[in-house]
Amino acid sequence: MGNTQSAAVLRDHIGLIKTRLEQLEQRNKQLEEENADFVKRMHEMQQQIARDAKTSQYTEYRGALFERGASGTYSKTPRCPACHSVMFSFQNVMEFTCGKPTCGQIANFTGFDLESVLKELESL
Ligand SMILES: [Zn+2]
Repeated sequence: MGNTQSAAVLRDHIGLIKTRLEQLEQRNKQLEEENADFVKRMHEMQQQIARDAKTSQYTEYRGALFERGASGTYSKTPRCPACHSVMFSFQNVMEFTCGKPTCGQIANFTGFDLESVLKELESL
């Protein structure tokens, strides 16, 4: 192999290495972008989880607790603010009363009022 020939082979090799390096740099850039995107999405999901945890908590209103689901609507089953037992409204005309006999908590609305109380609560 003459000097001219080996120089040409070397140039080809360098050319191939340069091409490969450019491909790798391109791939690396792509992966970095994807990674940044994943980190961003993970962060958004963590925030969403934190929001859901907050919104599924109980809200105390008019002497009862209402559980709010992830969709933002409240449960139609009021719970006792003192012991978290389900509250009942006798014949829908008596105020909601704690289902635990020894507790005795009474809310200030009846079964008839429930729909309007839920509407009030949702408009808060
Ligand atoms: Zn109770």
